[in-house]
Amino acid sequence: MDAREGLNHDGQYSTASTAEEFRLNIAEVQRRIASAAARAGRDPGEIELLPVSKTVAQERIREAVAAGCHRLGENKVQEAFRKSDEMSDLDIEWAVIGHLQSNKARDVAKFASEFQALDRLKVAAALERRLEAEGRELDVYVQVNTSGEDSKFGMPPEELPDFLRRLPQFSRLNVRGLMTLAVFSSDIERVRTCFQRLRTLRDRAREADPDLVGAGRLSMGMSGDFEVAVEEGADCVRVGQAIFGRRALPDSYYWPEND
Ligand SMILES: *Cc1c(COP(=O)(O)O)cnc(C)c1O
Repeated sequence: MDAREGLNHDGQYSTASTAEEFRLNIAEVQRRIASAAARAGRDPGEIELLPVSKTVAQERIREAVAAGCHRLGENKVQEAFRKSDEMSDLDIEWAVIGHLQSNKARDVAKFASEFQALDRLKVAAALERRLEAEGRELDVYVQVNTSGEDSKFGMPPEELPDFLRRLPQFSRLNVRGLMTLAVFSSDIERVRTCFQRLRTLRDRAREADPDLVGAGRLSMGMSGDFEVAVEEGADCVRVGQAIFGRRALPDSYYWPEND
């Protein structure tokens, strides 16, 4: 376990199995979003809560959908693709929020409505080609590494301006904003610095050319740090464990040291 344990009250997550339990967990997360928004003088209604259902089996996801979740985030393409097929009878939009290898672009182009971890032109080009074949478009967030940690995906901040300038050539990718993962630390000020960095990058990109960052949305904040993210301007928080319950798999499974 990493230092984030102290921050996210690990072990206190309550596992939801029924629609009623999901409603309770979601209401509690919404309440915490609202009070963080109030502290920052923001309108909570403008903040999207994206439930993250990775590792959660179909039966429980169906209950979450019954409780009102119609957009779900998944880290791994294979898992998300399988689930979208298993639950094609339900009204769900899938957001892929984890690192993508260009050889999996075809799967994403088939089912995802959003991809939040765009960090390489090679992947953008692969997605564009596959989306064209499918006759589809995709909302994307550009992932930036704001923590300086090697184990995180996302591009170095200094590469962002040039990357954004190259994206308009991909007409099927609709840029919605920027995404990041904060440093894994129980030191809240270090976490906050990552979120502030993403907001500054967005502001600078807007100044340089308002068309390049789309709506300029900020996707940041997870179960352990979403309140800090909201205080720092998050437009989308990606929350798994605080809604679905604690995951058995360690986070290192999702953010491996090596690609
Ligand atoms: C799993 C995951 C989350 C949510 O993490 P929780 O601790 O379950 O809230 C957010 N973003 C990404 C990219 C993830 O893979």
